[in-house]
Amino acid sequence: MTSRDRTPLVCGNWKLHPATIAASEALAREVIAMLRSPESASPLGVEVAVAPVFTALAAVSRVLAGTSVALAAQDTCAHEQGAFTGEVAPAMLLDAGCGLCIIGHSERRQFFGETDAGVSKKREALLGRGLRPIVCVGEHLADREAGRAIEVVLRHIDASFDGADAASLARCVIAYEPVWAIGTGKVAQPEDAQAMHVAIRGRLAAKFGDKAAAAMRILYGGSVRPDNAPDLMAEPDIDGALVGGASLDAKGFAAIVRAAVRP
Ligand code: PEP
Repeated sequence: MTSRDRTPLVCGNWKLHPATIAASEALAREVIAMLRSPESASPLGVEVAVAPVFTALAAVSRVLAGTSVALAAQDTCAHEQGAFTGEVAPAMLLDAGCGLCIIGHSERRQFFGETDAGVSKKREALLGRGLRPIVCVGEHLADREAGRAIEVVLRHIDASFDGADAASLARCVIAYEPVWAIGTGKVAQPEDAQAMHVAIRGRLAAKFGDKAAAAMRILYGGSVRPDNAPDLMAEPDIDGALVGGASLDAKGFAAIVRAAVRP
């Protein structure tokens, strides 16, 4: 299997935006329109998803119905039901129309105490309900400056996929998101991102076998914009993007989708 056999995925992480359900629906409509517009993007061969806030999921799901754009959640609870105030379970996300769910985002780790062990539990809970996890990993600036970026990210991989097997791996996506690049406008050099993706794939091969690792989609995230996306997406081990800020502009998001189309 080569990079050409992996269908790229571009997922927009809307974070805590837009402010209302109506505005989320409007953004979803714009994304669909831009992806259909011939001068803006050719979604051919690229899987596209958007991740609105929890309260907008069901409404955006109705907007996306019948289109090729999938719905993702930004987080999940690892539990199914019970006394877990403020949480939303995988089955509830499924019920709202989600097919994917981001877990382990650095903002969850930084502001809400998310750990690799928690990510591993969430991954299993999502898979148990047929949802596909997008598992985020990434190093801090201090790690990169100290030359231990790969070591830190591979530790995330080991712990986040603790107990996984090759079959369940096939249902997962990894997003490599250097923490220093998220929302900062500082993007990783394409060759540095490629090197990290190769290291991640190598670790997956050692743990789950070459076939499973070769099939795995590894996205890049961190200040992806329409202008830097083509160089990033040209790297053979970068299989799409997790896009934060730029995904709130439908035209720019569609341009990033177009950049992810394999030549
Ligand atoms: C993200 O939220 O996953 C992200 C990569 O954000 P941004 O594109 O704004 O850096």
